Amino acid sequence: MNTSISDLNNNNISYSNNNNISYSNNNNISDSNNNMSDSIIEDRISFKQIFIETCTLWKKRSTCQRLQTAAVLVRDNNIISIGYNGVPRNQKHCIDFWKEFYDTIKGLESNDEILLFYDAIVKDLNFNYNLMININSYEEFINSEVFLILHHYWSDLNELHAEQNALLQAEVSTSGATLYTLYSPCRQCAKSIISAKIYKVIYDVEYSRDLQGIELLKSSGIIVEKI
Ligand SMILES: [Zn+2]
Repeated sequence: MNTSISDLNNNNISYSNNNNISYSNNNNISDSNNNMSDSIIEDRISFKQIFIETCTLWKKRSTCQRLQTAAVLVRDNNIISIGYNGVPRNQKHCIDFWKEFYDTIKGLESNDEILLFYDAIVKDLNFNYNLMININSYEEFINSEVFLILHHYWSDLNELHAEQNALLQAEVSTSGATLYTLYSPCRQCAKSIISAKIYKVIYDVEYSRDLQGIELLKSSGIIVEKI
């Protein structure tokens, strides 16, 4: 990745050049140099697939208990930044927090004791001890509706989305770059993407819980594509 970043700095290649690097150019070069057959060239993986598959690999670094995802920022077909979802540096990971939460709650006898441990979560969500009574394992807990609600609240306060991390960790300008992401960005990330002057967003799966992000991006003139 460092090589890519320094290449960008040295060459100062603009995004529009990137668009002009077509598949057919590469095809011709490979044909003449390597004498490869047309069928092999036509089967070659596309840049879009490469970058989405890069996300699929990087999402495995995510420590979110609910959903692992990742995003890459690309300019001139070089990756300039990578992000996956999770807590900021030196904070307790999602998977650790919820395992501890579950073990603690199951070890308690009443709502009063739960209040002492998880004051904000319990008060803000009107969380009740009874919601956990029929849940008998951590596996059941993380697949329950209760967990979805609790995690949504906690994640908003504690986790960064993959798109946010990719934007924040870029060490070169993000202006004109393309963002590849596994899920369509939420409205919060869309705001950051617009301000970071991203040119295009390419996603794999439409994130049905928040479709406002796509609309916001489009209304700001950003090209949005489903791969
Ligand atoms: Zn999480």
